[in-house]
Amino acid sequence: MPSPRYTREMPHRYRLEASKCKKCNKISFPTRLVCSDCGSKDFKKIKLSDYGKIVTFTTIRVAPTQFATEVPYNVAIVELDDGVRITTQVVDCKPEDLTIDKKVKLVFRKLYEEGKTGIICYGYKAVPV
Ligand SMILES: [Zn+2]
Repeated sequence: MPSPRYTREMPHRYRLEASKCKKCNKISFPTRLVCSDCGSKDFKKIKLSDYGKIVTFTTIRVAPTQFATEVPYNVAIVELDDGVRITTQVVDCKPEDLTIDKKVKLVFRKLYEEGKTGIICYGYKAVPV
């Protein structure tokens, strides 16, 4: 079975679902129950933009077990066109191809296999545009 955390995170992992405060327009991602800016509990669900740019990045050469076969790989903080920042892997490019402000698009990919059961967890990764 996928972990409870993975299951709980499915809406935003699979659909980039965020919540927008109806009072102050602050976007929360992952979704929250209370707005961190104004304390309102009145949200509407939105889907975040698939496009953004790299704010900062690093290359992982020593990885946790579940990603060990993928090293070296790139991890970046990406600012989506909505202004929301997410941490994600950047794939389909070499570490030396990455630059600050590089445009990327989020795509749906396999993230990792969980435990011995081999359950495959999916989510978004960024690719250069
Ligand atoms: Zn608010």
